[in-house]
Amino acid sequence: MTVDLRSDTVTKPTPGMLEAMWSAKVGDDVFGEDETINTLEQKAAAMFGMEAGLFCPSGTMTNQIAIKCFTQPLDELIADQTAHVYRYEGGGIAFNSGVSTRLLDGYRGIITPEMIEPEINAENIHYPHTSLVVLENTVNKGGGSCYTLDNIAPIAQLCQAKGLKLHLDGARVFNALAHTGDKALDYGQYFDGISVCLSKGLGAPVGSVLLADKATIKYARRIRKVLGGGMRQAGFLAAAAIYALDHHVDRLKIDHAHARILSEELGKQSWVANVMPVETNIVLFDTVEPAAIVLAKLAAKGIKASDTAKHRIRFVTHLDVHADQVEYVVKVLSSEF
Ligand SMILES: *Cc1c(COP(=O)(O)O)cnc(C)c1O
Repeated sequence: MTVDLRSDTVTKPTPGMLEAMWSAKVGDDVFGEDETINTLEQKAAAMFGMEAGLFCPSGTMTNQIAIKCFTQPLDELIADQTAHVYRYEGGGIAFNSGVSTRLLDGYRGIITPEMIEPEINAENIHYPHTSLVVLENTVNKGGGSCYTLDNIAPIAQLCQAKGLKLHLDGARVFNALAHTGDKALDYGQYFDGISVCLSKGLGAPVGSVLLADKATIKYARRIRKVLGGGMRQAGFLAAAAIYALDHHVDRLKIDHAHARILSEELGKQSWVANVMPVETNIVLFDTVEPAAIVLAKLAAKGIKASDTAKHRIRFVTHLDVHADQVEYVVKVLSSEF
């Protein structure tokens, strides 16, 4: 048996999804004529209580476009030191937007108004102008940790009082919603921009959507074009995303239950030094031996995973990890391997 726990991006389209893609009505989206993309953008915006949406090839692009929309060159944004926008987007904040980054040291990537406020620069010619705060929910490098809306509301309040924009890197926001029980519709009031990945836990093959007000999305469309992200008959991809929003949101709790089963088994093993608390579909654990050695042993049993540090391994559960595969992994973990 093979089990791929490297990432929730490895899922393949289901038969139902392929059928939806096959029968999609498409057009040239650069002309605004792809009705499936238009439907997806409106549907996603409505779900989160935002005015408009923009379908993009990747979550990196939706985040980078948002940062470009909400800043000017010489500005500074505030984010946690684990933030995907800072660590895993190739230095795009500086490259695309000419903006510097002030990093905070949150708990598992979760930051608070008390941490943010002292890092907002006063008006002074020496200081970059602070114009944006970026939150991530769930936090990837935090091991899938979640903000609740109760955490978010006071941050949004602070941003409003200080004239800062607030962007959500919601690559896994549906995992956060499944865990916290918060409602997507309540998100819109707090954020100026929301990026949602369709190709992570939701299981679509490609794409992310940026949500914001109409004026921001109009400008975002220009930025998408200049980045080379203006696609043509991409409604085939949007059809997969619509299918995912309709069929793959409720099932995320299965992935979370699977992650919990794996973490409990890991917690019993003498070769595991520490398991981070599991909230969603990501399990981070520290190994006594170097991670590379443990990964090789797992690979020999058909289990793929990834290391995030010399002694740290990440398991991610998703649509293509089924109950029998979880059972198999548990069996392997508990045996001498
Ligand atoms: C995956 C991910 C993204 C976007 O990644 P792409 O591979 O560019 O789609 C953004 N933020 C977080 C937290 C992610 O995990």
